[in-house]
Amino acid sequence: MDYFEPKTVSEALSLLAKHGAEAKVIAGGTDVMVDIKYKEEPGCLINIKKIPGLGAIQENGASLRIGALTTIRDLETSALVRDKLPVLWEASHQFASLQIRNTATIGGNICRASPSGETLTPLLVLDAKAKIAFSDGEKTEPFASFFQGPGKCSVGSKGLLTEIDVPYPAAGSKSVYLKHAVRGAMDIAMVGVAVLITPDAAKNSLQDVRIGLGAVAPTPLRASKTEALLRGKPLTVALSKEAAAMAASESSPISDQRSSAEYRSWIVEALTRRGLEQTWKAATGKEVA
Ligand SMILES: Cc1cc2nc3c(=O)[nH]c(=O)nc-3n(C[C@H](O)[C@H](O)[C@H](O)COP(=O)(O)OP(=O)(O)OC[C@H]3O[C@@H](n4cnc5c(N)ncnc54)[C@H](O)[C@@H]3O)c2cc1C
Repeated sequence: MDYFEPKTVSEALSLLAKHGAEAKVIAGGTDVMVDIKYKEEPGCLINIKKIPGLGAIQENGASLRIGALTTIRDLETSALVRDKLPVLWEASHQFASLQIRNTATIGGNICRASPSGETLTPLLVLDAKAKIAFSDGEKTEPFASFFQGPGKCSVGSKGLLTEIDVPYPAAGSKSVYLKHAVRGAMDIAMVGVAVLITPDAAKNSLQDVRIGLGAVAPTPLRASKTEALLRGKPLTVALSKEAAAMAASESSPISDQRSSAEYRSWIVEALTRRGLEQTWKAATGKEVA
């Protein structure tokens, strides 16, 4: 197996263009090394960890730019992420062990495109955009259209994710990331739900609602029908129950070694309801009646 350590993005892109489908990018390696051990060895490894400038977290007007090489631990210890993007910060806490968080990158989590990837539902509800470099130019892709199936995303085999641009949620909004796993953070999510709500000025109704569902479909997804049902209404117990059931119907979970599809549906329902009621109370100061 050939091994390269490019020092610039353009050098990495030339290597990707030259070695084609047999090449594999490696960042933290927490997914790639497991694949090499238990699945297959790529023809060549392109280690991007030594490319400078891809690991920064920077304010950019009304958004935060997060470099692809930012580690999960960097997210977890960033005051900017905690204050501006609490739902992403919360997910970083529930991500594996400290050893893994120290090594795993946000870019690797995104490009792995696993339906259960911890940062993906928070990035979906935050309306984040991915910046992808190719040898013939670059493009910016909204997360809404970024994921194409398990392990498949807009980066493809020739692209390099360089940065994520994450807009700040509206003032007064509240969010939560809820993960269901047998061994908590040490386990891959059986179901992950991110909820972000913004109440109207009088705090009487839901001006905006965003619900991200993870590990319950071939890609992480937004429960858009459920969001439409809730928008413009006050959250009541009856509406919260109806919305939670609708969110479960928008998912299409599979049965695997972690859970049955039926159990995953129940958990989507339970976590969506919990997420809605928790954020409503936090945003309005009112109990759900
Ligand atoms: C013990 C253990 C526990 C784990 N727990 C969790 C968990 O709780 N939650 C969770 O979400 N994940 C978990 N994971 C999975 C893994 O840690 C994450 O997906 C991690 O974020 C991957 O990042 P990395 O930098 O290690 O990626 P790598 O392994 O280096 O790469 C992952 C994939 O992304 C591609 N890639 C990486 N960076 C780029 C880039 N900039 N541009 C283009 N392609 C790129 C690689 O080619 C590869 O296909 C766990 C893994 C292990 C081993």
